[in-house]
Amino acid sequence: MSQPPQTRPAGVIGCHACGWVSTFRPAGRDPARCPRCHARLYRRYPQSIAQSWALLIAAVIFYIPANVLPVMYTQLPGNSGESTIIGGVIDFWQSGSYGVALIIFIASAMVPCTKFLVLGMLLITARKSSSWARVGRTRLFRLIDLIGYWSMLDVMVVAIVAALVKFNGIGVVEPRIGILFFGLMVIFTMLATMRFDPRLIWDGADQ
Ligand SMILES: [Zn+2]
Repeated sequence: MSQPPQTRPAGVIGCHACGWVSTFRPAGRDPARCPRCHARLYRRYPQSIAQSWALLIAAVIFYIPANVLPVMYTQLPGNSGESTIIGGVIDFWQSGSYGVALIIFIASAMVPCTKFLVLGMLLITARKSSSWARVGRTRLFRLIDLIGYWSMLDVMVVAIVAALVKFNGIGVVEPRIGILFFGLMVIFTMLATMRFDPRLIWDGADQ
């Protein structure tokens, strides 16, 4: 099977912004720029692994207060107080709202932890230029890239519950500081995923 031509041996580089292919001249200290749109040229995102790690570690740190601190304050007839994410899951489950409990559990525990583990694994294997399961790892990257936005579901749940309760005038539901950390965790995980250059998975591959 004939191999498609690659840019690196050919001495050319594609512009990530406009797609223009030009000859690559490393210009000393100044970064090379696209002759057409003047965007910075690079073969891989600069500092991809280090920056992705830093953002991922920040996300994991934010995840701790997101779970420990209360995310919601409720003042309803017969039920008042602050609740954490896991406390909310248990409350919903005990009150018979199994679907809601399951959705919050998936969005707040399963999805973030899966993303942490997958991204950590991608970073470690990319650093080692591992040839293990390149297609599978690329698929995993696309998966965590795709599910990023859905993690904001928890923030939405708090916002919607607060709005519903206020609208119906049956009590008071207010967001608490924990949900801010949860939102930050989601944003930093998304940024970490965006900084990871999936082409690093294929570096060193023959095809
Ligand atoms: Zn360009």
